[in-house]
Amino acid sequence: MDFPINSPIQKIEDAVFTNQKIALYLKRDDLIHPLISGNKWRKLKYLLEDARLRHKTHLVTFGGAFSNHLLATAAAGATFGFRTTGFVRGEEVQNDILFMCSLLGMQLIFTDRKLYQHKQELFLKHFAADPEAYFVDEGGASALAALGCSELVNEISEEYDHLFCACGTGTTAAGILNGLAAKNLPTTFHAVPVLKNADWMRQEIEKYLLKEVLFEVQTAYGFGGYAKTRPELLDFIKRFIAATGILIDPVYTGKMLFAIYDLAQKKYFLPGAKILAVHTGGTFGLLGMKNQFGQV
Ligand SMILES: *Cc1c(COP(=O)(O)O)cnc(C)c1O
Repeated sequence: MDFPINSPIQKIEDAVFTNQKIALYLKRDDLIHPLISGNKWRKLKYLLEDARLRHKTHLVTFGGAFSNHLLATAAAGATFGFRTTGFVRGEEVQNDILFMCSLLGMQLIFTDRKLYQHKQELFLKHFAADPEAYFVDEGGASALAALGCSELVNEISEEYDHLFCACGTGTTAAGILNGLAAKNLPTTFHAVPVLKNADWMRQEIEKYLLKEVLFEVQTAYGFGGYAKTRPELLDFIKRFIAATGILIDPVYTGKMLFAIYDLAQKKYFLPGAKILAVHTGGTFGLLGMKNQFGQV
């Protein structure tokens, strides 16, 4: 159960970096798989292995109507021979992501927002009688997911001064921090929460840390909340995509890269700094936001 996961690292050329003698590189985890996007594959890998070890053939998981995790689970299930069920938060809707989940064979159960909060109860209510059902938390959040994410660090051969990653639950960030700590790397890690006022993100990340480490949380780039955007973010994304040929989305990677460009403009980095940003995938998130882009 594997993909050639060693995703390439690519330099991003932009005057804002060369002028200050700093350099930005992008770890292209979006290239791991077109549907099982970046960090979602790293997060699922050991969960799927665990399911298989326990002879569970039915993955049951949870997500919003535009969830990259639902799509990744549907695609991973179809690829590796698991049946999949997704509890979708909220009233029944149709969209591009859910269309692809269905194509990949995922059974969708739309769930009232109140009931959705009690995931274990939902799982038991529907699947207590199914001995092959395997519970996967929303976004894959788990220690096994953090373990999968820590492996990203083994694929980095050069040293970087800074490493940036977008955060939703913080599991990916924790995994990468564990990987950096295991190798004793001097890299400063920056978590970029994609939610507003995410001061609590530090504690969420610390839940999955194997030992205490220092890291930064860049809380200024939530843009009003999860899946919320502002014109300057959308403009930045349009310019970045047209200048590089790399798709980024307004929910995760757009905010993370906006943070790096903004900090560079504010002369946050020392001359000579080498920065690595993780492209955690999720480019189909663009489809959920296409109307907000207006006239491109
Ligand atoms: C889910 C997701 C994240 C957030 O990962 P967490 O482990 O929940 O912090 C970041 N980027 C993309 C593209 C995602 O789909």
